[in-house]
Amino acid sequence: MELKVHSYESMGTYDGPGLRLVVFLQGCPFRCLYCANPDTISFEGGTPTLPEAILKMALNQKPFFGKKGGVTFSGGEPTAQAEALVPLVRELQEHGINVCIDTNGAIWNSHVEELFSIADLVLLDVKQINPARHLDLTGRTNTRTLETAAWLEEHGRPFWLRYVLVPGISDTEEDIRALGEHFGNGRYRMIRRVEILPYHTLGKNKYEVLGWDYKLKDTPLNTKEQLDRAKGLFDRYFDCAVLN
Ligand code: SF4
Repeated sequence: MELKVHSYESMGTYDGPGLRLVVFLQGCPFRCLYCANPDTISFEGGTPTLPEAILKMALNQKPFFGKKGGVTFSGGEPTAQAEALVPLVRELQEHGINVCIDTNGAIWNSHVEELFSIADLVLLDVKQINPARHLDLTGRTNTRTLETAAWLEEHGRPFWLRYVLVPGISDTEEDIRALGEHFGNGRYRMIRRVEILPYHTLGKNKYEVLGWDYKLKDTPLNTKEQLDRAKGLFDRYFDCAVLN
């Protein structure tokens, strides 16, 4: 079964531990206002790719992965292609390759459940803990994402919680505290790391190319004070929070 691939990044250092081959898959049900890869959102497009081609690429790069690295499936939303991913993930693991799934946690079916059962690590993006603000930010509610987090916890599946800190959108003390109350203070033992991701505008030019309006054009980048303040708040709830 073919996968629809948007692009690849070799030697990636941002999406999971160590050096990684990052495979960006095409298609995502969210419409995050700050999406850095808006060209991966449409379910149309992408390059139909046989899993064997990705396996071959991963095997070629395996010497660079070291002990921690491996392959990360990102997007877009990789779970949208879970059925095709499951056998490929198994095959990669049979070759001793660590596999991470970078997900918004919003899609659920038996293939996704299987995918999360076998992934070595899930990178779970929680865009907003507040349901209404999540809807404004992504176009979807966060109900399923929070249920996915609970499922990972219940089933003993390790995950990283990732949170993009957007000034005025997701960086209020109220929201960070609510996130901490939900996930922190030992409530989620399977959280291995909390990544606070500063807001950036690297994808902004792509909006122009797509003819889309970049709705956060007036949103400033985080100041150092804002980042330090947020990190201090996260540290009250988590002992594994890092500012990326
Ligand atoms: S979930 Fe990720 S790929 Fe999808 S719209 Fe949001 S930032 Fe973009």
